[in-house]
Amino acid sequence: MYVDGLKHNLLSVSQMCDQGTEVIFRSNGCSVHDLDTGKTVIKGIRTPNNLYIFKEGKHQCYLSKNDEHWLWHKILGHISFSRIRRACKYQAVCGLPNIRIPGNTICKSCQFGKKTKTNFPEKEGSASRALELVHTDVCGPSRKRSPRGEEYFILFIDDFSKMCWIGLMKHKDEAFENFKSFKALLENESDHKIKCLRSDRGGEFTSNEFFNFCEEHVIRREFSTARTPQQNGVVERMNRTVQQMARAMLDESRTPATFWCEAAFAVVVILNKTNIHVNSTQTPHELWYGETPSVKHFKIFGSKCYIKNNDENLGKFEHRADEGILLGYSPHSKAYKCYNTSLGRIVDSIDVVVDEKENTPRQVRSEDLEDDEDYPSTSNHIHDEEETHKAPEEQIRIEEKIPSRYVQKNHPKSQIFGQKEACIQTRRTIAEASSYLALLSSTKPQNVREA
Ligand SMILES: [Zn+2]
Repeated sequence: MYVDGLKHNLLSVSQMCDQGTEVIFRSNGCSVHDLDTGKTVIKGIRTPNNLYIFKEGKHQCYLSKNDEHWLWHKILGHISFSRIRRACKYQAVCGLPNIRIPGNTICKSCQFGKKTKTNFPEKEGSASRALELVHTDVCGPSRKRSPRGEEYFILFIDDFSKMCWIGLMKHKDEAFENFKSFKALLENESDHKIKCLRSDRGGEFTSNEFFNFCEEHVIRREFSTARTPQQNGVVERMNRTVQQMARAMLDESRTPATFWCEAAFAVVVILNKTNIHVNSTQTPHELWYGETPSVKHFKIFGSKCYIKNNDENLGKFEHRADEGILLGYSPHSKAYKCYNTSLGRIVDSIDVVVDEKENTPRQVRSEDLEDDEDYPSTSNHIHDEEETHKAPEEQIRIEEKIPSRYVQKNHPKSQIFGQKEACIQTRRTIAEASSYLALLSSTKPQNVREA
């Protein structure tokens, strides 16, 4: 518990209980027990001054409550605090602690990620069962191609559950093939048939083969007009949310923009498992699969990670783990999706150690602001072929070389005042450092002033 001006930190019994522990006070001491495991977490003694204190030892406060709110904001892809609160309120997600909305909710990466505010109201879903109505939209081209050359993504949303699926495409024309494969997958998972498909009148949705296929499978078509995209509001809103959150995640982690597709995939997984829509108390995942989703294994996108090397032919002194970048979650298992920097490709692995602290905020650069237009939905962006066809690690190097007109972090050493080894001290770093301190008081304050 942090009390402004107090030199010793106090422990809050109510907060310890909120964290799933039980605190027992006896005449000669006290103890804290984990309710899940039944194990004793820490024991304390009662002093002659009638204070209960924990002996000095290995126990230390590593995470303040304020840090925890922000940690989960980042783990859940910079989703808004109000959305996290809704998931907490209905206890709709396993592994999510009871997060409160902090006093100041301004997040730099979220500000960078924001494009335009959507004014489409979130209306009650009109469908009464799965696949009665499916929304779809294509987004792109992106400024950077994915390592596999994709520039577009297509979204499919089941109106009843608001479950969302994402597909990547090199060309818009692949929308039809994507629809056919998602139709097979969705109908197989739900045991229902798609009754109606709603989209805009983009060329990718109005080809003869698309019309013929829908006619053959008795799928009604609904179209929004170009001037009133709000008729396609459900998917338009999702489209913007995916872009905004993906941009914020890339910005926060300083992950190269070429991984935008992985960020977008991760956002869809996060939203399906945590985003409760109006007039619902369940997540899309639960409405679709009938089970409560878990976010226990979720980690911050773009974190440094170590992927265990299971190759049996490894030499005695060869590394047992490869370094990588965490890029989300495998859609079909509990495995993580990582970019293995040694192999230069994306791999799925369960044996991953994630270092979320290796995620330092970067300086504001002019290029970041330009990234705001990453996903223009109509313009025909001409790509720099030389740059976009390079392997991810080469692109990383190219991005690092871009000169900045802002203050550089590497000053000439002769210009540094004071000790060169000392870190830069700002008011924020001091405040953050103080929130990690947890000392125990050995004197009983007699009044508020003393405390
Ligand atoms: Zn944020």
